[in-house]
Amino acid sequence: LSAYSTRWKRKLQRQIRGEIAAEVLRMKDAIGIVPGLAVILVGDREESATYVSKKKEACEVVGINSFEVHLPEDATEQEVLNSISGFNEDPSVHGILVQLPLPSHMDEQNILNAVSIEKDVDGFHPLNIGCLAMRGREPLFVPCTPKGCIELLHRYGIPIKGKRAVVIGRSNIVGMPVALLLQREDATVSIVHSRTKNPEELTRQADIVIAAVGQTNMVRGSWIKPGAVVIDVGINPVEDKKKLSGFRLVGDVCYKEAKEIASAITPVPGGVGPMTIAMLLSNTLISAKRIHNF
Ligand code: NDP
Repeated sequence: LSAYSTRWKRKLQRQIRGEIAAEVLRMKDAIGIVPGLAVILVGDREESATYVSKKKEACEVVGINSFEVHLPEDATEQEVLNSISGFNEDPSVHGILVQLPLPSHMDEQNILNAVSIEKDVDGFHPLNIGCLAMRGREPLFVPCTPKGCIELLHRYGIPIKGKRAVVIGRSNIVGMPVALLLQREDATVSIVHSRTKNPEELTRQADIVIAAVGQTNMVRGSWIKPGAVVIDVGINPVEDKKKLSGFRLVGDVCYKEAKEIASAITPVPGGVGPMTIAMLLSNTLISAKRIHNF
């Protein structure tokens, strides 16, 4: 593993976007269809609005149409369901994304279940997750962040088969699906969570470490086996008076320490985050191709 570079940069994200843009154009030229992504945003969380605008921007770059519904914080669950059902029926929409978190008065499960499985580009529908977990079944969509982690490993030629992998975190959106994906790729996977007794010792056995915890710098250099590959999914704001915004983003892994020991490590920001958006574009394209048999 030591042959691989120690830093992943935005270069790869640009390369993937270029590939998607070329395919979007090919589809448009051949059958006159442009893939479309619809985003539903509820409330005024600044962070969510930023994510939504980044996704829209990315769509524009690759030529995917984007549609947005922005509902107020006090919108009813029925209003969200109505928007989803409109997009489910709309033939120009191939992917539907409900920006999480939703306001607390809404039933997230009920809302996510309403997204047509054919347009579930986030891959959070229980049927998609169920197929991901079962041998011999193929989900229609794989969740974007976990897919981005595996894509990084593939693109850098890092072998997964037969390797020991530790996933730190077991959330529905990152930890659990990324562990399922690693298992599908024939890694031997352990999952570390908040009740795990010996996280450090377990992590030190791993050839591949994927951290998705939401705890600033939790994974120290001493947790990493020399030569291991580390993917840091965490995005944690920490105070930084030197920044205009007053904060900067750091990962779940202490980058400074881990980079000295790992053979490859993703930076935060600029590692998994851009890959997540690239995979959302990829899922939207996959969906449009499937719907139109292209
Ligand atoms: P959640 O809060 O949903 O899950 C965190 C997981 O970490 C839980 O399974 C929890 O365990 C576990 N955990 C928490 N504290 C510890 C601890 N001290 N030791 C071991 N395990 C612990 O977070 P998400 O999965 O949604 O997100 C994780 C991080 O990834 C966040 O920083 C988030 O911002 C970032 N993120 C980044 C994305 C990207 O595109 N780069 C996309 C999505 C998320 P338990 O289950 O026992 O509670």
